[in-house]
Amino acid sequence: MPREQATIERMAAVLRRLGFDYVFDTNFSADLTIMEEGTEFLHRLKVGGLERWPMFTSCCPGWVRFLKSQYPELTGQLSTAKSPQQMFGSVTKSWFAQKLGVAPEKIFCVSIMPCVAKKAECELPTMRTETGPDVDLVLTTREFVRMIRADKLNPMELPEEELDSPLGAYTGAGAIFGATGGVMEAALRTAAYLVNGENPDPDAFAAVRTGPGLREAEYELGGSKIRCAVVSGLGNARKLIQDLKAGRAKYDFVEVMACPGGCVGGGGQPVSVEDEELYGVRGERLYDIDRACKLRFSHENPEVQQLYREFLGEPLSHRSEELLHTDHRAWDMPK
Ligand code: SF4
Repeated sequence: MPREQATIERMAAVLRRLGFDYVFDTNFSADLTIMEEGTEFLHRLKVGGLERWPMFTSCCPGWVRFLKSQYPELTGQLSTAKSPQQMFGSVTKSWFAQKLGVAPEKIFCVSIMPCVAKKAECELPTMRTETGPDVDLVLTTREFVRMIRADKLNPMELPEEELDSPLGAYTGAGAIFGATGGVMEAALRTAAYLVNGENPDPDAFAAVRTGPGLREAEYELGGSKIRCAVVSGLGNARKLIQDLKAGRAKYDFVEVMACPGGCVGGGGQPVSVEDEELYGVRGERLYDIDRACKLRFSHENPEVQQLYREFLGEPLSHRSEELLHTDHRAWDMPK
């Protein structure tokens, strides 16, 4: 399909033809993740806990499993924020269920992801409440394409349809989560706002954007110097941890994505017929979406604001902790 026609709105139309009652974009909960993770980072900076080791992002289950199996002693340095997938399921089966006036057990939440590790993440014992799992089933984007073909749907023949609301709105900061460096950049945009009370230039943190291997940057946030690092690919992650352990490197905030290039290079993504790696092309597209968005800061997402106003209160509130955070130490790696 031409890129201009392969829109999220056309995907919403396809999903409704496949039988889904409501269709949303996980970018919404990427914005929500930033609210929680950005606030958590500022909190850890203030109360201590980052003197020796940085805070690691936690939205990539491939990375979480790598850290837990290879360097279990560092598990506590992971942000406690759940991933956008899990936050989405959690909010769907609480706030959205209330809004619909249906029991959470009646909702079957399917997540379509570029990732095979997300399938294991949704089955973790910590990703459920007494009413059931946050997310019931994960399909990869590759499996999604197969479903479209199996039902003989031609997305080109379908009109564009709006996403459902609330939980459908997103900002440019949520959109870039799929590219390496995107989570860091989105978190820094909101952290700068929280510290200074005004938005920075949305491109002020562009130094952490896509590029091979390790990217490092230093920023000033509320008078403190923040040392950031971004890597994708687990070989690069291992090298970074070895450097931290040996004292050759020192950071406050580190983003790791298991797949080279981030989720745009995810193991569940369609493989091109030429067997080309497409993460670079996909990543650029995400930054195009970011630049085209009217809103480029997660804290400006109107539906995220509505969620805090009506239900959660504020980031790291008791209810936010209960629904949107997790203890990565509360489950064991399979022997
Ligand atoms: Fe999944 Fe890869 Fe994205 Fe990690 S980087 S969440 S393993 S697709």
